[in-house]
Amino acid sequence: MKAAVYEGSHEITVKDVPEPEVGSTEVLVEPKYVGICGTDLSAWEYGMYEPGLIMGHEFSGEIVEIGKDVTSWDVGDRIVPNSLLPCGKCSFCKAQKFSICDDMQMVGITMNGGLAELVALPQEMLHRLPKTIDDKKGAFVEPLSIALHGFNRIDFKRGNSVLVLGTGPIGILSLHFAKLLGASVVYASEIRSARLEMARKAGADFIINPAKESLPLRIESLTEGVGVDVVVECTGVPGPSSEAFQLVKRGGTILILGISEEPVEVDFMRGVLNELSLKFSYLGYQEFPEAIRLLAEDLIDPIPMVTRVISLDRVVEDGFEALTRSDNQDVKVLVKI
Ligand SMILES: [Zn+2]
Ligand SMILES: [Zn+2]
Repeated sequence: MKAAVYEGSHEITVKDVPEPEVGSTEVLVEPKYVGICGTDLSAWEYGMYEPGLIMGHEFSGEIVEIGKDVTSWDVGDRIVPNSLLPCGKCSFCKAQKFSICDDMQMVGITMNGGLAELVALPQEMLHRLPKTIDDKKGAFVEPLSIALHGFNRIDFKRGNSVLVLGTGPIGILSLHFAKLLGASVVYASEIRSARLEMARKAGADFIINPAKESLPLRIESLTEGVGVDVVVECTGVPGPSSEAFQLVKRGGTILILGISEEPVEVDFMRGVLNELSLKFSYLGYQEFPEAIRLLAEDLIDPIPMVTRVISLDRVVEDGFEALTRSDNQDVKVLVKI
């Protein structure tokens, strides 16, 4: 079968590999659509995964074979895998903190993922896709679960104002979810104009391009010097993360979803004097059913975010190479398998 195999930084090869063996409690899945995300791009740029790994962690698929001890799944079932498989035994799992499990497996990151014609998945990782979620939308369950997990980790109240820094897919999904939760006003900041336009279409009340105007000054004038209740940092670069401390209201919350490769300077003085809350959030796990429900009921429509659909054969040129060019304007690129 064909698969995109990670060999190292700037080295991903689409090639023929043996079909996976299906364990007795596993199912064999044909991936349908696979999202390429920032984590994959970091792995491409800096090297991160084990060589030989088949990438792809945001995907929908259909079961084509089941292991002999699988009882609750059938051939033809449409699924999404959870992004992680926690060990279930460590102190973190016992405390229901699955995304920081001592010994978790992550599909497409520590175990083979969806950028392949077939992938074997443990049955306990699967979530059923209802008919109202087509295969394309299914690829957004995982990124949506990340946004949901972030909001679950903070004390968000109806009527809060929200500023989303960075309107890539996680930023846009956070913006949608903030609106659903009853945010009074949502500001979006982004330097890439196509992404900013996407934020406006997704319902941002104000869009700000910090490459063209001062973000702190604009927020100051829009909030009459008060700042916003919640800043959601989704850029993964140090500058905006530091700046968040100037943008948030006294007593407000900074939620960090972006992963910065570089250390970030933090204004502890302002943090203490203004009694700010700083929360970090990683992966969704328990949020998968809720993410599926929001998509199934059409409460969030991620499809406008899809700027291109590419083939597995072209995943390096049209995917990884294109997405890491500085002038790239894509929001979400899906690979159709
Ligand atoms: Zn991802
Ligand atoms: Zn664990």
